[in-house]
Amino acid sequence: MTNQSGWKLENTYEGLPPFFYSSMKPVPVEKPEWVIFNEELARSLGITDQDVDVYAGNRVPDGGHPLAQAYGGHQFGYFNRLGDGRAVLLGEQVTPGGNRVDIQLKGAGRTPYSRGGDGRAALGPMLREYVISEAMHALGIPTTRSLAVVKTGENIVRDRLLDGAVLTRVASSHIRVGTFQLAAKAGSLEDLRALADYTIDRHYPGVKGTDQPYLSLLEQVMDAQASLIAKWQLVGFIHGVMNTDNMAISGETIDYGPCAFMDAFNPETVFSSIDEQGRYAYGNQPPIAGWNLARFAESLLPLLDENEEKAVELAQETLSTYPSLYHAYWLDGMRSKLGLFHPHEDDQKLVEDLLTMMGNHGADYTNTFLDLTHDREERNPLAGTVGFAQWQERWEERLDEQPESEEEARKLMRDHNPAVIPRNHQVERALDAAVEEGDLSVLTTLLHVLTKPYDHEGSPEAYQHPQNPEDGPYRTFC
Ligand code: AMP
Ligand code: MG
Ligand code: MG
Repeated sequence: MTNQSGWKLENTYEGLPPFFYSSMKPVPVEKPEWVIFNEELARSLGITDQDVDVYAGNRVPDGGHPLAQAYGGHQFGYFNRLGDGRAVLLGEQVTPGGNRVDIQLKGAGRTPYSRGGDGRAALGPMLREYVISEAMHALGIPTTRSLAVVKTGENIVRDRLLDGAVLTRVASSHIRVGTFQLAAKAGSLEDLRALADYTIDRHYPGVKGTDQPYLSLLEQVMDAQASLIAKWQLVGFIHGVMNTDNMAISGETIDYGPCAFMDAFNPETVFSSIDEQGRYAYGNQPPIAGWNLARFAESLLPLLDENEEKAVELAQETLSTYPSLYHAYWLDGMRSKLGLFHPHEDDQKLVEDLLTMMGNHGADYTNTFLDLTHDREERNPLAGTVGFAQWQERWEERLDEQPESEEEARKLMRDHNPAVIPRNHQVERALDAAVEEGDLSVLTTLLHVLTKPYDHEGSPEAYQHPQNPEDGPYRTFC
């Protein structure tokens, strides 16, 4: 039933065994205050409610049965039992288009999974998730969305006192690789099967009729992840904490913490202050996703075959196709970035040679593609460097050979090379103004630019510059 605030909440997650969650309301906050509300997203969800108490966790909307989800996860390679330590799922909104999406409050207070944490979130990081997730969506990358950020009127203790905030997150679900790991390690076979069946119903109903639905589930999740990570690589997005609890089964980008975009092309780029070994560096993201998928496959083993050896064989056979699957998505995307419509045996080499030159000259990844798109020799950092003229000749030969016109090729490039990405210094500037001065205008202007990344004519040049390297290496904290 839809009520007058547009809420149409259902609670199918409650149908899972109690092992998977703890029913609880968000912990109320002192003095809720609006920071930002995503009206366009609200409209697409059918939600008209703008009662700040709802988005602060002080009032549960009609129909919602709030709960915190249990999960586990390998954090930097080590398994831990986890769960929503500071998030509460209000329910699942059924949108006017008939989609089901989780409505989750992040920073909603302590839960049974909080361990030593306070259950709260600071304003800066919640606004950061808001900006980056909305930018990712606009870039065409599957992601959770951000509906609202409110201040709680409470201080939270970090290295200093900070303004507390709650983010309303919208996700096609919050089922993680780590949810399956928890079921496999600490639940019964029935728990695991219930989770797998629920996941199939919710995300991959097409596998139901197949001979081996759980193996097909593995294939589908692998495909979704391969496609997602390729999209990250293609825009230079670095997630920063690809722990298995931060990998959604739906194939959406989730849990924005110390993420950031790469400026100069360098596969070793790491921004997160806690990633000392570079486990989650730009160039490691594809193999790490493979590693995480292996943990997913491992969790599914009891469902794949009664005979364990046979189950392992099936899982391995499927997992062995991940590298080529990923690579095909990536190369397809790279071809589009170069305006090429048809595969050719030289593609791999053509792309690699370009990236090598970018790496050697510290060329900005996004802007090099942008300058190629607009044929702006005067701006392209590679113009005039050794080997670039020959590379360009090879590339232009490919463009000339294809039946599509140059105009069509340029359009393909414009559609795959963003004119703007969230530049680290611009994001920081916007967060500073919002958090330190209570001035949201810098952030809303930035959002306006970031939500039209392929509008090449309308994109202001001021937002295209990378951070000045003299300002030192960029570091992110979570
Ligand atoms: P993350 O690194 O944000 O993915 O979080 C890892 C785990 O720590 C998750 O289970 C979170 O719910 C939990 N967590 C993070 N921050 C807090 C906090 N302030 N209070 C309680 N739990 C937290
Ligand atoms: Mg329970
Ligand atoms: Mg997380």
